[in-house]
Amino acid sequence: MESIPTTVTGGCLCEGVRYQIDFAPDHDWENTPNTCQCTQCRKMTGSLVGTFHTVKTTELTWLAKATYAEYASSPGCRRAFCRTCGSSIGFIDLAVEGDIALTVGGFDERFLVGARDARDRPLGAWGVALAHPRGHFYVRNEIEGVTDGDGGKGQRFWKGRKEGPMDEDKSS
Ligand SMILES: [Zn+2]
Ligand SMILES: [Zn+2]
Repeated sequence: MESIPTTVTGGCLCEGVRYQIDFAPDHDWENTPNTCQCTQCRKMTGSLVGTFHTVKTTELTWLAKATYAEYASSPGCRRAFCRTCGSSIGFIDLAVEGDIALTVGGFDERFLVGARDARDRPLGAWGVALAHPRGHFYVRNEIEGVTDGDGGKGQRFWKGRKEGPMDEDKSS
C-alpha cells in the first residue's frame, strides 16, 4: 500500500454530489489536512472539530453535482453542501483562488479505512495522508476538557491561517 494515494473519490450521503480527486505530483501533502474549531465550521459540519483536506480545483472533477449548493457564510467565503441530504462538502475562500477545502468525512470509506479481512478488521488505506491533521486553525475556540486534547502534531493558529502560527509559549 502506498502511503500517498493518487486518486480518491467522495461525496455526500445521498450521492447527489460526487467527486474525484486526482492528486497532482506537487500536491501539498505537508500542509493539509487541517482542523478548524471556528463556530462556522462547527455549525456547518455538526462536529466540534472540522477536518478539511485542501485540493486545487484543477485536481477535482465533479462526477455528480445535481444537488450541489453553496452558502455565502461570510464575505468572500462559501460553504458547499448538498441541498438534499445536508452533507457538508467543503469550504471555499474566494481570496485563495483555485482552492477548495473538502470535508474529509466525505471521502469514501475504502480510502479512509480500506477493505476488511474475514474478521471485519480494516486492512488499511490512506487515512493518515488524507485525514491526519498537519495544522490547527482557530484553536481559540478549543473547549477545555473536550477538544483541547485533539491537536496532535502540527502548527496551531489562534484564529484562521492568516493569524499565526502561534509560538510555543502561547500554545502551551
Ligand atoms: Zn446529498
Ligand atoms: Zn472554521
